[in-house]
Amino acid sequence: MSQENYLIKSNASAKNRKPLQDKVAIVTGSTYGIGFAIARRLAQDGAHVLLCSRKTENVDKAVQQLKEEGLSISGIPCHVGNEKDREKLVAMALVTYGKIDILICNAAVNPFVGPLFETTEEVWKKVFHVNVISTFLLIKLAVPHIQKQGSGSIIICSSVAGYLPQPYIGPYSIAKTSVHGLTNMLAQALRFMNIRVNSLVLGLINTSFSKVILKTPEIESKLIPLGIHRLGEPEECAGIASFLCSEDASYINGENIGVTGGMLGRL
Ligand code: NAP
Repeated sequence: MSQENYLIKSNASAKNRKPLQDKVAIVTGSTYGIGFAIARRLAQDGAHVLLCSRKTENVDKAVQQLKEEGLSISGIPCHVGNEKDREKLVAMALVTYGKIDILICNAAVNPFVGPLFETTEEVWKKVFHVNVISTFLLIKLAVPHIQKQGSGSIIICSSVAGYLPQPYIGPYSIAKTSVHGLTNMLAQALRFMNIRVNSLVLGLINTSFSKVILKTPEIESKLIPLGIHRLGEPEECAGIASFLCSEDASYINGENIGVTGGMLGRL
């Protein structure tokens, strides 16, 4: 084959290739909301996706829906705060697909909405355990397997509250600030393994999670002063996640990337 024909052929096959073709991705907290939209988008972009959440019925429903869309999906119940569940999650990815390239740490909790000085030790412990410590521990479990692929991508879902702490969701805000630190530290530690770590700094997105927060009158009345012109949709968080996992983002590492509709306004 001539050089010219070879280039035409390889360009054509590159064009037909999806950006995440044959990659294996784990997405936590992915049976509805933002995680579900990300899982679906990664699969549409060519990945085999293992989704999970705490409730078996939610896992079954999400897997069935995405399989009906012709996507490569499997699922397992997993509470990310539980060590055995985290181990089973990683093991299932390896048994089902034989490797892990991508990990999206999306699952998080916010068990309390109210004045800062009414928050209890229990609330602080739960929020930090699930949103920060368990995120790190799952990444720690997955990294040796991602490393075997020679490169990979990790995304942690964070919040604008990590930059603009909200007193009515105090522990959650501070935990998300920690996620930004964690992202930065992991990116430093893993760049020599060619594993990139970025976070999505999400604004107010239209999910069951934000509905609870928006029901609080003290927060609702502050939406316009906070610069929220409309809620984002989960699908509006999914394309950026797929891009960050793709080769097109191969030099983007250690970033906390805003998906806020302009609310964050960092310089
Ligand atoms: P959501 O609509 O409440 O969905 C949460 C998903 O996570 C569900 O699939 C849920 O399923 C699962 N889940 C909850 N706790 C879990 C746990 N401990 N282990 C595993 N899975 C769990 O939430 P969302 O709004 O999509 O939020 C997703 C991420 O975006 C979170 O990190 C959140 O902090 C962040 N975020 C959201 C907003 C927003 O406005 N929505 C803003 C900023 C940041 P089960 O019930 O079956 O477990």
